[in-house]
Amino acid sequence: MNECLFCKIAAGAIPAKTVYENDVVLAFHDINPQSKAHVLLIPKKHAQGLNDLNALDDGTLSALLRAAKEVARLLGIQDSGYRLVSNCGEDGRQSVQHLHFHILGGERLSDRMV
Ligand code: AMP
Ligand code: ZN
Repeated sequence: MNECLFCKIAAGAIPAKTVYENDVVLAFHDINPQSKAHVLLIPKKHAQGLNDLNALDDGTLSALLRAAKEVARLLGIQDSGYRLVSNCGEDGRQSVQHLHFHILGGERLSDRMV
């Protein structure tokens, strides 16, 4: 298997606390939460990040957005609100090179993005 951390999580080789899963996406709790609710949403297929969307088909890309809303519903934060973030590259502070979205909420988030 390749050395990508999130590919290993998607394959079940590294444990994670799954929140939601379907054929093409997986959502699990962030190991170092930055808000009361902090879940990571990934495609099971590897793509490096937002600059590598051609690695994924349109069905997977739309499944990610639909899954984000489903995760919010499962976390009970759909109505209170949440933030969907994907860090990209050096300036974006992306630390894991597998496309992922942070779903943040469960409390009033900062009114600043950075
Ligand atoms: P980013 O900095 O946007 O690339 O986000 C990577 C995220 O992955 C960080 O919020 C980390 O806390 C999280 N993370 C790293 N390793 C794990 C892991 N084994 N399980 C769950 N989350 C992880
Ligand atoms: Zn990967």
